[in-house]
Order: sequence, then C-alpha cells, then structure tokens
Amino acid sequence: MCGIVGYTGKAKASPFLMEGLKRLEYRGYDSAGIALSDKGIEIHRAKGKIDNLRQKLPRELKQTCGIGHTRWATHGKPSEANAHPHRSQDGKVALIHNGIIENYASLRTELIELGFEMKSETDTEVLAHLIQKCYKGDLEAAVREVLGLVTGAYGIAVMHENEPGRIVAAKMGSPLIIGLGTGENYLASDRTALMGHTQNVVILEDGEMAVIDPDEVRFSTIEAEALDPQVTELKDEVERIEKGEFPHFMLKEIFEQPRTISDSFAGRLLSEEGTAHLGGLDNVIDRLMECDRIILTACGTSWHAALVGEYMLEEYLRIPVEVEYASEFRYRNPVVDENTAVIAISQSGETADTLAAMKEAKRKGALVLGICNRVGSAIARESHGGVYIHAGPEIGVASTKAFTSQLVVLTLLTIKLARIRSMGFSEGKNLVDELRGLPDKVEQVLKGAKEIERISQMLAPHHNALYLGRGLAFPVALEGALKLKEISYIHAEGYPAAEMKHGPIALIDENMPVIVIAPSDDNYEKVISNLQEVRARSGKTIVIATQADTKLQELADEVIQIPHSHPILSPILSSIPLQLISYYVAVARGCDVDQPRNLAKSVTVE
Ligand code: GLU
Repeated sequence: MCGIVGYTGKAKASPFLMEGLKRLEYRGYDSAGIALSDKGIEIHRAKGKIDNLRQKLPRELKQTCGIGHTRWATHGKPSEANAHPHRSQDGKVALIHNGIIENYASLRTELIELGFEMKSETDTEVLAHLIQKCYKGDLEAAVREVLGLVTGAYGIAVMHENEPGRIVAAKMGSPLIIGLGTGENYLASDRTALMGHTQNVVILEDGEMAVIDPDEVRFSTIEAEALDPQVTELKDEVERIEKGEFPHFMLKEIFEQPRTISDSFAGRLLSEEGTAHLGGLDNVIDRLMECDRIILTACGTSWHAALVGEYMLEEYLRIPVEVEYASEFRYRNPVVDENTAVIAISQSGETADTLAAMKEAKRKGALVLGICNRVGSAIARESHGGVYIHAGPEIGVASTKAFTSQLVVLTLLTIKLARIRSMGFSEGKNLVDELRGLPDKVEQVLKGAKEIERISQMLAPHHNALYLGRGLAFPVALEGALKLKEISYIHAEGYPAAEMKHGPIALIDENMPVIVIAPSDDNYEKVISNLQEVRARSGKTIVIATQADTKLQELADEVIQIPHSHPILSPILSSIPLQLISYYVAVARGCDVDQPRNLAKSVTVE
C-alpha cells in the first residue's frame, strides 16, 4: 500500500525519491509528495499519479537529503492538502507516515486548544505538530517523545530544518527498510525502491528507530536502547521489476507463470521418495504432525488459495482444516490451542490483518506457520516455520503468479504431510511427477491467449457476471470473480455451482454472463446440469473444461480448454484463463490494469 522513500548523501536526492516512488506506484496510492532539505525544507505534493507530481517539480532540485511518500488515504479524501509530507506549524518539521494513528482525534483537539492550526484532514498531521511541540534541539528525542503519546500503526520518516542531512525513521506495524551505502544511506517501505542502489539493508522491527545521516545510521528502540543492526543482503532483482515487452505488469506476470510455478517447486520435489522437501518446516515438523487441527488464515486472493488448501489438506490428511479471514479471526477470540497449527498466507508477508491474526494465534499457544513470497517479511519473521513461494516480485496489484505459486506450495505441503501420515509412495510419486509436468501445461493454456482475448470481449459490456464451480473449482470461481471486480470494476460473484439455484439463479437472463469452471472430475456431470439451468434462462456461458466434447460445445456459448491434470492441480490450470479474461476485459474497458482504483498491493493497514 502507501510507500515511503528517503535519501541522504552527496548526490541529489530527488532522482532517487522520484524513481523510488515510481517503483512503489504499483502498491496503490492516490497522491504523492516529497520534502527536500538543505537550508530550509521544500515540499512538493500532488493528487493522483507520480507523473502529476513530476510535472509540478521545479527543474533544479539540488538538495541531497529528502523523503517521499505515496498515500493511500485512510483519513481524509485524496487531495493535495491531505497528501504527505505534512509540515509542522512553524514549517520546520516535514513528516511522512504510513499507517493509522488511532488516537489522533484527541491529540488533534489538544493541539487545536494550544493554538495549532490543522491544514489537512489526516490523522498524520498531528505528528508533525507534536514533534514541533516536543523539539528542544534534538529531533531524535522529540520523535521518541511523540511516539510515546500515540497509539496505532506507523512507519514514519521525519526531517527538521535545524538538522539538515538527517532523517529520523520509526516503525510500528508498517514496514520500513534502511539501505546502507557509502557516504549515503536510504530508506524505503519496500525493497523494490532500493534495488540497484544498495544491496545491504537493515529491516526495522516493530518498536525500532533509525537516525539516518550520510555517513552513519544509528539504530535503537523507541525506548532509547541502542541496537546492533542485522545487515542482510538484498538479492538484486531489477530485471524482474521491469515490464519488458509487455504492456502491463499483470500480463507479464500471467505469462511468467510457467517459470514461477517451477521456481516454487524447484529443489523441493523428491521423486525417489515420492514426497516434497520443505526445509522451512524441518524444525517444526514433529509438532506439526501432532496437531489435530489446521487453520488457514489470509485475506483476498490468498484467502482463496487457503480454500483450495483446505480441500486438499482435509482430503489427504483426514484432519479438520478451517479457513478464516484474518481480519475476523484476530478479533473474535478464536478457539486455538497448542494442538492447532495456524498457517498464515500472504503474498507480501506484510498484510496487517494476517500478521495480527498470527500474533493472536501465537499468544494462544498455537504452532504458527507462514506461506509468503517476500523473503524476510514480517510474517516470515513472526512464524515458527514456513515456506516461501518464490514467485519473484509481483508488481500488478491483482495477484496472479503469487496465487498459483501459493497453490503449488499448498500442494507440496499436502504431499509432504500426507506422505508422513497415510499417503502411499506411488500416489506421492504420481503427484510429484504431475507437479513437474505442470509448467508445460500452463504454457499450453497461455498459447490460447489470443482466443481467450476474443472470448473476453463478450463480457466487456456487461455490469455483472457470475462464476460457478464445485469442489476445488469453487475457490477458483471466487478468485475469478475477484479478479474481474478488481481490475474491470464489473460486479462479479463466485458461487458453488449447486448454490446457484438457492438464490443467484434469480439474476440470470441474457444480460448475465456466467463463467463455469468444469474440469473433468467427479463433479463434472453435476456442473453440466447447472450449466443447463443457466442455458434454460438465456444466460450466456463461458465454460473452462478439460474436455471440449460436442455435448459441451452445444451447451456453452464458448469453451476454453485446459489440459488434463491430477484433480488437485486443476485449480492452477483453470485459474489461468480466468486471469486472462479479467485482464482482457479490463483492457477492453479502458481500465488502469496495474493500478486499479482504490486498491493497494500489500495492505499494511487494518
Ligand atoms: N493515515 C494516513 C493518511 O490517511 C496515512 C495513509 C497511508 O498510509 O498512506 O494520510
């Protein structure tokens, strides 16, 4: 979601800040701004795209220290006045903030009573004025004091006119990374902004601060305890964050899937033993096998992956598996004990709700595992063990390759656990071999992209769409509907195919396109009956099927064929045409595919 960048050194700060903000654009935002300091503090802000901000910048910006922000509004509408950086009343403090200050209302009232004038509707602005109020010649001390007064979540970066060249940063809940250079240092909320600038980074933990000068960074806790930084190396992945020949990141990422899927299982398939190797579980596997219940918790697309995981794990492990929205789980005092394994799934590994759900489960004594993409992310650090999906940076806001890689990892987990419990060698080996063959099948589906583009045009003029599937295809239907909603703004719903007759069937007429996921499995005939019901009410149908026989051709308006596979892998194959459909529909409707309105990539606020 919203992004933070900062630079202090010998070079001009604005090129890094603007490039960094551009790279963070994908996370979703509504306005942006930068503050630059040398003799005084200069602030530029604009509503909308980073290019709007760029156009407003003067030609010459010589300052060698600055901070930048992309905002995703929580308090106050997107506008220039609400954009960050915010200034203190005396104009000497400039501050950017990701997150939410929960007690801002009372702080605001107190400040107004003291004569401070609020220039924005944000929760953030109070921090700038409070820092002015507490400043006695030491910015670090003032920030510390102010953080003692606030509750909520934040990643902040602050500069003071009297301390040129210095940025003070602090974190509680929202991600912040310090990049270490020679004679220059960086700050970012997301490693993407640092790539190509420095390889050495320190990831701030909750409750930690950094005082960043060109030649030195000092780390401490907010309570003023000095810290020895743990420097980690950032793997340079610049080429993976460029669009290349693709018009959009989303399309690039859809087409990357043969590779990202094989990256997700690379080095993890043990054909000889018919199982999977997951090193991140080695230390917890005994405890995991003793658990009598698994809870998968996630949000959005990852929640759909969790639903597929539920079907697979329950089927093969024969223990109860539940799926919980992280945002609900964290607040409802869930029944969890030391025999429960809670597996949190999140692409970014920073999703605030998922992280909080994990912490809650941990407090209650559960074994807590993480499945995420970002190495070293908050969820990875918080868990007892886990598995990275290795999908590489995902820039498109609508998740595609991370979803299929989550499904691969959940399949690996199922194989590994089931082989310890009850699955025989040949079944395990069969699954391992099927996984190995999966990238070629994905490639085959992608070869049909042109035809899928043609079929998608039929959906573009509609306002609604229904997605149906049974069994493992039900979460795929939910995910297909979410993808369409997210980027083309068509209202879409996913339903278990049999549920249609209990309500949604009332909506079906010639204006309601229905997308049916009907792989050849035990549910096939039943799904075909549901298709008949749609047909009988003049609904237009697109069917994703493994066999395009004449019966189906007669029934459906369009059929998209996917290769045969083991049933537990078919969600991966059938979700690819759905990703392409939502992409082509969004393009046909002229939507901003990579930065859909109101959405953010990694949701670091509750
Ligand atoms: N709550 C702050 C605002 O609405 C920060 C939002 C953000 O994280 O971008 O301005």
